Amino acid sequence: MIIVKQKPLEEIRKMSADYRKILILGCGTCATVCFAGGEREVAILASSLRMAEKIDGKKKTVLEYTVKRQCDWEFLDEISEKIKDADVILSLSCGVGVQAIAERFPSCRVLPGINTCFLGLTEEPGIWSERCDACGNCVVYETGGICPITRCAKGLLNGPCGGSVEGKCEISPEIPCAWQLIIDRLTAMGQLDKLEEIQPPKDWSTSHSGGPRTIVSSIQGESGEK
Ligand code: SF4
Ligand code: SF4
Repeated sequence: MIIVKQKPLEEIRKMSADYRKILILGCGTCATVCFAGGEREVAILASSLRMAEKIDGKKKTVLEYTVKRQCDWEFLDEISEKIKDADVILSLSCGVGVQAIAERFPSCRVLPGINTCFLGLTEEPGIWSERCDACGNCVVYETGGICPITRCAKGLLNGPCGGSVEGKCEISPEIPCAWQLIIDRLTAMGQLDKLEEIQPPKDWSTSHSGGPRTIVSSIQGESGEK
């Protein structure tokens, strides 16, 4: 899941200061699960904005709507009429949704009301932790299903680093050492010998930091990466 967090109200007000009619657009998927951009958060933000603008004596119209997913043009098409009533869309989705709106509706102004944080899992309601950096070449079959790139502070492929203390990472006693977790898990599975092989330096050309990628799925008749 993409983990997102709503921007502070003051930042949103500053971004949207020049617009009179604002459509707050929620996203019914990741942003909803993160309590940052679902129908409920759209309603709360809309009320907060209305109140804040009223206190400051400004006249603004704040509209509300939530689509199932902003990262799919299919679901954005249902707002094609609604956006005509607004000067700007304040998107409560990850950065993909914001850009999907900008591409689908080229003449429409769009603002990000959310900060996109990472790919993570829900540890318990309201607590998410990072699990994947979208490196494009998953290696966790070597490491007992635990990602060393994301969870080791140094992203080591051959760990541990030597700084681990009582199973915690040297950067903080609050954070488990990823390589201790990997060793414990491989030991439990009787696969510790996997670590005897030294891993070569990672080829980062498949990573998202190597530029924007497009994945072509097999349902398009061919598969691969562009
Ligand atoms: S190895 Fe790469 S793809 Fe696999 S979980 Fe880690 S960052 Fe994600
Ligand atoms: S202590 Fe463990 S998690 Fe922290 S940097 Fe070293 S190997 Fe990585």
